[in-house]
Amino acid sequence: ISLSDPVELHRICVCVRKRPLNKQEVARKEIDVVSIPGKGILLLHEPKQKVDLTKYLENQVFHFDYSFDETATNELVYRFSAKPLVQTIFEGGMATCFAYGQTGSGKTHTMGGDFSGKNQNSSKGIYSLAAQDLFLLLKQKRYSSMGLEPYVSFFEIYNGKVFDLLNKKAKLRVLEDGKQQVQVVGLQEVYVSGVEDVIKMIDVGSACRTSGQTFANANSSRSHAVLQIILRRGNKLHGKFSLVDLAGNERGPDVSSNDRQTLVETGEINCSLLALKECIRSLGQNSEHIPFRMSKLTQVLRDSFIGENSKTCMIAMISPGMGSCDYTLNTLRYADRYLLH
Ligand code: ADP
Ligand code: MG
Repeated sequence: ISLSDPVELHRICVCVRKRPLNKQEVARKEIDVVSIPGKGILLLHEPKQKVDLTKYLENQVFHFDYSFDETATNELVYRFSAKPLVQTIFEGGMATCFAYGQTGSGKTHTMGGDFSGKNQNSSKGIYSLAAQDLFLLLKQKRYSSMGLEPYVSFFEIYNGKVFDLLNKKAKLRVLEDGKQQVQVVGLQEVYVSGVEDVIKMIDVGSACRTSGQTFANANSSRSHAVLQIILRRGNKLHGKFSLVDLAGNERGPDVSSNDRQTLVETGEINCSLLALKECIRSLGQNSEHIPFRMSKLTQVLRDSFIGENSKTCMIAMISPGMGSCDYTLNTLRYADRYLLH
């Protein structure tokens, strides 16, 4: 797939992105068990053993709207996933884009980009690419006269609790009124006058997200981060784009720490990812009943699962190494297009 290919518009778009093998995987001589032979197709070559112990690779095929291999840039992924959704919010719709996958598979790289000085291939992520397009569209004639004003909010959901990343991780309450309207009470919404303002807020929020973390206790992989780009006309909500860097989907408490805290966290994460899948499925089926109360994540995103003009994109990230095969299978099964559609 290339930048010149046409973009198809679906209400729900499911993509998969394979990152390159990293240095450690190369050093361990891990083999790459994922191949992408054509648009939307992905093959997993799962190592298996026969009864007589001879080893072989079993091929399994998965289908997506788009599949991106290790040569894909953030720009390319963005063009076919989140970019069409920026338009959606100008048309008064609600949009969501999810980055899903195991820890280390590239969710934050895809969403936030990579600006660490050490990385030679620094690149913008979906957050800033979407912000760029937001301000381009705001200047277009057909929208500039509408009086639309852009705001951003940025929060984290950890263990079913909401924390404001633009306000020193203040813990926020989620309220639902009689009309099922959901509100995150006191969430900061910052007016942004240009791309630089958005990037500043992303930096503030990202720093807040990771502060006080050690490698062994990387909370960021156990929490969902939600960046929202909001368009208002006066006090009235016009459209909202939620960009979600989901918690790592690795199942079960990791071997190193089977304490209660980890068990609770893992239960919460599994529950919210399951809820998310159910809500996206309901959206695809135009179902009356959206099970958004199943988790805090789906509850705060309720707006996005209802309404005529709601659109969602899921980008499933996978690590290509043989050592990640079980996690990769898990991710592919979750996101496989035919399960969602
Ligand atoms: P996650 O957020 O899913 O835990 P990260 O985005 O932090 O994973 O990625 C883990 C590491 O892999 C980071 O160092 C990141 O720079 C690198 N990485 C991820 N995806 C890519 C990619 N497509 N190309 C190059 N490096 C990548
Ligand atoms: Mg991350």
